[in-house]
Amino acid sequence: MSGGEKNEFSTPYFLVDEKRLLHNLEILKSVSEKSGCKILLAQKAFSMFYAYPLMREYLAGTTASGLYEAKLGCEEFGKETHVFSPAYREKEFDEILKYADDVVFNSPTQFKKFAKKAKAAGKSVGLRINPQCSTQEGHAIYDPCADFSRLGTTLENFEEELLSELDGLHFHTLCEQGADALEITLKAVEEKFGKYLYQMKWLNLGGGHHITKADYDVDALIRMVRHLKETYDVEVYLEPGEAVVLDAGFLVSQVLEVVHNGMDIAILDTSAACHMPDVLEMPYRPPVKDSGLAGEKACTVRLAGPTCLAGDVMGDYSFDAPLKEGDLVVFEDMALYTMVKTNTFNGMPLPDIVWRDRNGEMKLVKSFGYEDFKGRLS
Ligand SMILES: *Cc1c(COP(=O)(O)O)cnc(C)c1O
Repeated sequence: MSGGEKNEFSTPYFLVDEKRLLHNLEILKSVSEKSGCKILLAQKAFSMFYAYPLMREYLAGTTASGLYEAKLGCEEFGKETHVFSPAYREKEFDEILKYADDVVFNSPTQFKKFAKKAKAAGKSVGLRINPQCSTQEGHAIYDPCADFSRLGTTLENFEEELLSELDGLHFHTLCEQGADALEITLKAVEEKFGKYLYQMKWLNLGGGHHITKADYDVDALIRMVRHLKETYDVEVYLEPGEAVVLDAGFLVSQVLEVVHNGMDIAILDTSAACHMPDVLEMPYRPPVKDSGLAGEKACTVRLAGPTCLAGDVMGDYSFDAPLKEGDLVVFEDMALYTMVKTNTFNGMPLPDIVWRDRNGEMKLVKSFGYEDFKGRLS
């Protein structure tokens, strides 16, 4: 939101900005053109299918974590639909094959259970590997290479007799990381699994690549993709979620009341627990428009949600003037891992979804109501 804008929509709402989305899509398209890789949208991070017709012009398709995302990707995005699930359900697998082009399995056991069927249906089949190379600190819940991880097949568990059936290998080990972390990971992948790569048609490097961040070393990524293609003669896939919609959305909320208990606490009409659960899960401090750190600007205030959860708190921020009832508070970088994770705990309404097109026109794309709360219960 730029300052002084009249707020014609009912808060809270997600605002997704076409120009910002296009900025990311242009970067991704240029990476795929320069390196020869294919880039898929990981729908886990962002499934706002209203934007799929636009995204389709820049990306090669979507990737899914199971039946519903595969169906959505196939119905609304088209192009290539890939799917990876830690374990497929027997009763869903046939339907998955209706939507998916590429099916990735997590273990040799899953592969042996389902791959024949997938192949018979004309699908490309792969195995997720675990190179056991942790490159991230701090966020253990986002590290598929952590000890005792269930995600991916380790070299020890790899079964060479599957090689003749395998079309590709897949790994996903990064989270919000740079090309340097990919380089370290690729070294481990090539050392451990390089000997198998010559027989593959494709290699999927997963997501977690922070490609659209200003300081990301795009040239290094392009070099690595070219190296893989030249060395192993494979198609290379990237499947970022976050990088596709980084900084492309906002969550606009309003102050309901400011209370005082040792400090000012603003109760907003949006909830961390319900509308931006990563704030509590990760946890992290979401950026807020026109704010500073606590104590940095004149008026420090804690931003908190309207639920009954004591810990429903976004963090402590400072503003030039005290917040008061009716003021808008705009959370930034709220397109990723938000809409896909919202819930109606405490009977909280879901935020509406608003689109701002490249000319600045705002349009209500979807509004939610009581039925969305009741409809999930019985
Ligand atoms: C989460 C996930 C992605 C997307 O990760 P981002 O961090 O959003 O880029 C891609 N592939 C797989 C298998 C994932 O689990």
